[in-house]
Amino acid sequence: MLLIKCPYCQQERAEVEFSYAGEAHIERPSDPAALSDAEWEAYLFLRSNPRGTHFERWYHIHGCGRYFNAVRDTVTDNFVRTYPAGMPRPSVHDIDDAKT
Ligand SMILES: [Zn+2]
Repeated sequence: MLLIKCPYCQQERAEVEFSYAGEAHIERPSDPAALSDAEWEAYLFLRSNPRGTHFERWYHIHGCGRYFNAVRDTVTDNFVRTYPAGMPRPSVHDIDDAKT
């Protein structure tokens, strides 16, 4: 069973309590009308889908009901860390330290 630690509840809970909510740290353009169709399409639909470290949004749907961010390794399916939504993206150095 995959366990995920909600940064608000401070408990590891079963994956079935959570819902994936897409890639984290996707910033909405400040002036969408100024974008070309290709730029708008890229904002709406194109995501990184990496092999390895991935920054994701999760929703604790059957718990506190809050969104948070997680760093997950897509190869091992291990959650490296979770942190509250709105916090800056952790540096690669911090992620590498957490994996060891
Ligand atoms: Zn929670």
